[in-house]
Amino acid sequence: MTASGIDRLERVVVVGGSLAGLRACEALRAGGFTGTVVLVGAEQHQPYDRPPLSKKFLAGEWGAERIALRQPDAFESLGLETLLGVPASGIDTTARSVVLADGRDVPYDGAILATGSQPKRLPDTDGNPFVHVLRSLDDAIALRAVIERPGVRVVVIGAGFIGLEVAATARRAGAEVVVLEGAAAPLIRGVGAELGADLASFHGDEGVDLRTSVAVAGVAHDAAGAIVRMGDGSELRADAVVVGIGVSPATGWLADSGLELRDGIVTAPTLATGAPGVFAAGDVVRWTHPLFAEEVRIEHWTNAAEQGALAAANLLASAAGGELTESATVPFVWSDQYDHRIQFLGRSTAVDGSPAEWTVLVGSPGERSFVAGYHADGVLRGVLGLNLPRLVMKYRPLIAARAPLADALALADEQRLAESARRAG
Ligand SMILES: Cc1cc2nc3c(=O)[nH]c(=O)nc-3n(C[C@H](O)[C@H](O)[C@H](O)COP(=O)(O)OP(=O)(O)OC[C@H]3O[C@@H](n4cnc5c(N)ncnc54)[C@H](O)[C@@H]3O)c2cc1C
Repeated sequence: MTASGIDRLERVVVVGGSLAGLRACEALRAGGFTGTVVLVGAEQHQPYDRPPLSKKFLAGEWGAERIALRQPDAFESLGLETLLGVPASGIDTTARSVVLADGRDVPYDGAILATGSQPKRLPDTDGNPFVHVLRSLDDAIALRAVIERPGVRVVVIGAGFIGLEVAATARRAGAEVVVLEGAAAPLIRGVGAELGADLASFHGDEGVDLRTSVAVAGVAHDAAGAIVRMGDGSELRADAVVVGIGVSPATGWLADSGLELRDGIVTAPTLATGAPGVFAAGDVVRWTHPLFAEEVRIEHWTNAAEQGALAAANLLASAAGGELTESATVPFVWSDQYDHRIQFLGRSTAVDGSPAEWTVLVGSPGERSFVAGYHADGVLRGVLGLNLPRLVMKYRPLIAARAPLADALALADEQRLAESARRAG
């Protein structure tokens, strides 16, 4: 038996048939693993991409075939045993078996847990036919059917990235849109209050009624639609209420597993869970990010893709007695709203989780074109960009190198000069 507790690796079970799970399967094959790979997924669909669900798919511009993560032949060529449409309900890390909700046992030598996250819901809204969340293809199909109707009224609860994307798409489709946010500004969690307000300002221009610091007391319904009851006693009528108040990691099925769970599956930076041969990847993982010395759970596409591949590579390495690699890349997320592209790299917080200071590096929020750097103790921790995609990514190596803010300011000087030269010539 190797130090990792794996004495043979002939069967790998990947739980979660989405981005991280698919990337894990692909990396197993790319890493030369020729044994059995079982992909267990709660959804019936083959892996598909979620970001378009609030953008081009919701707008009706793309169909379901366009969001498949792999074309059927590429997916088939992986030679997987697929168990789709049935969730896992537990894992026995001693007997090394994943238990399915239909009672079947799926034995493994190695397992990769990639069950992602699920939307938080409002109390007492189960069974309200006008209340939507947006996580799955089926959710998006249901919401799209409402938005497509002319003149509908949509209330979005929560002004995070997903809520604001839904607001933008619904507004462009002709809906009347109200966004209700309990915090003092939109996008506070992602980018902080001041820049959050700047980023979301274009919603007002588009005719979205964006209300902050408001409390929703509940959502009822009658035959005509939803009734949003506000904390101040007022009511809003809607044909659809979209609840975008965040997600929680899909760990309920692991409650009796003995794995360490704390708002996610707690792993080492190598994504090892501590149980022999069991790794985790994607939205579901909580780990101490080596670069930021901060415990994080990242709900971004690139993190899920990278960690899926890394978990597989580390599983293969641990079976071979090799070196494991840590998950330490700079987190990256983007959001498209109307014709604006928001990008965020790294963290907007200091090591203790308090908001980091920020400074505009290039452009200006007023012009809706800027790059801002977040810093703590003189070190660059994150970068936010609006409508300057070519410039933002250049800061990634600086964040990765824990560069001083001065280096970011120097890069910004270069970028401003280059931009003026480009405009002049
Ligand atoms: C509408 C929307 C828009 C987004 N837009 C962006 C964007 O613009 N940029 C960005 O960076 N990120 C975006 N994201 C986030 C990004 O899609 C996620 O970070 C990514 O999907 C995470 O991948 P994952 O594989 O870890 O988890 P998930 O995609 O959540 O997949 C987990 C899978 O596991 C399945 N599962 C859950 N429990 C079980 C179980 N017990 N047994 C078996 N299977 C189970 C689920 O059904 C699901 O299919 C968006 C997400 C949504 C929903």
